[in-house]
Amino acid sequence: MPSNGSLFDRAKALFLHYAEPLQLNKRYPDLQLAERLTSPDKSITMRLSLQMDDGRVEVYDAFRVQFNDDLGPYKGGLRFHPQVTFDEVKALALWMCVKTAVVNIPFGGAKGGVTVDYKRLSITEKERLTKKFAIMMANDIGPDTDIPAPDVNTGPREMAWMSHAWRMARGKYERAMVTGKPVEHGGSLGRVEATGYGCVVTLLEAARDNGIDPAGATCAVQGFGNAGQYAALELSRHGGRLIAVSDSRAAIANSSGLDVEALMRHKEKTGCVADFPGSKPIDPMEVLTANCDFLVPAALEDAITKEIAPQVRAKIIAEAANGPTTRAAMDILFNKGVIVVPDVLANAGGVTVSYFEWVQNRQEYFWTHQEVIERLTKRLMDAYRRIRDRAREERVSLRQAAYEGAIERIAMAAAERGAQ
Ligand code: GLU
Repeated sequence: MPSNGSLFDRAKALFLHYAEPLQLNKRYPDLQLAERLTSPDKSITMRLSLQMDDGRVEVYDAFRVQFNDDLGPYKGGLRFHPQVTFDEVKALALWMCVKTAVVNIPFGGAKGGVTVDYKRLSITEKERLTKKFAIMMANDIGPDTDIPAPDVNTGPREMAWMSHAWRMARGKYERAMVTGKPVEHGGSLGRVEATGYGCVVTLLEAARDNGIDPAGATCAVQGFGNAGQYAALELSRHGGRLIAVSDSRAAIANSSGLDVEALMRHKEKTGCVADFPGSKPIDPMEVLTANCDFLVPAALEDAITKEIAPQVRAKIIAEAANGPTTRAAMDILFNKGVIVVPDVLANAGGVTVSYFEWVQNRQEYFWTHQEVIERLTKRLMDAYRRIRDRAREERVSLRQAAYEGAIERIAMAAAERGAQ
């Protein structure tokens, strides 16, 4: 179990720790940047009551945290999950600020969440819930203020509902008010696979640097939602062998490799990876400790703890999830020589294509799939190389190098904006 405070307290402490060498107070005297950059600009907490199909009413907590907009409008996903808390949304919003700065896109950071067991709802209840959230938030979100996107348990379907509800509330068409939409509604080609694909781009760069050939490499993926599925698929395209995988309900393995496309179809049909033909059930923990070259944690926060870290056998970890590794585990992995491509870089492909979608929406001019993928690949490779060079020079982890570059950028923008 992770110790030492709430998720947000720990996220803030880590940010401040990485900011230390930058000496913000010395560089920008009197601006209180450390405090300004680690407390949210605006937090919205709402009570969302939903009428169920049988007439009963259920009441949920709903949040949107607009963390920082020094580099541009607030940007970040919307999560529907029974374990969502205000504290978690705050931490995720802080990480979005770092992430957008890491890949150098003109956005700040935000996050939204509803504490609901979304998978249990009927399709009509899901639509009502999503649209109600969008209407309650209608004056706080928009293309120039705060742009939501998919996150855990939300996808193109939810974004189309958001867009439609916002249009009804505000009385105008604004495609760029949300990203991750279906293509028919102004979504970008390549957005659905962007997080998983981008994760593999950065993972392969790290593999190249460390002399590991992806062809024939063994991989384990923890979490088989959007990010995990497309990361596994992209790894298999490079010749990687998926030997262990889990989702929220089960975990399976096959040492000669699982057919990723068939597994995606199985998951789509049954809702779970369990009972996939040719696989054997394993303990979910065994995915994180699998004897493999690449490990992709693609589920929720705090998956790799200090108890698990010593048992990790992967050579490279690429964090497709947000915050999957606790701070104590980070130190253990660093000392063991495990390369960790941090979340703020490894899963930034999603928000990068969200940015491309926003640009295309504002121009009403759409790019081909190839154009999207080429631009995404270049941006992530550039970010990876910049971070790797800094990490080598300063002899620090990729995470520390990523944070330092991002904090420098946000701090400069905040200082230039002035003290008020
Ligand atoms: N929810 C995703 C993330 O954590 C995507 C955010 C976005 O596209 O704005 O990065």
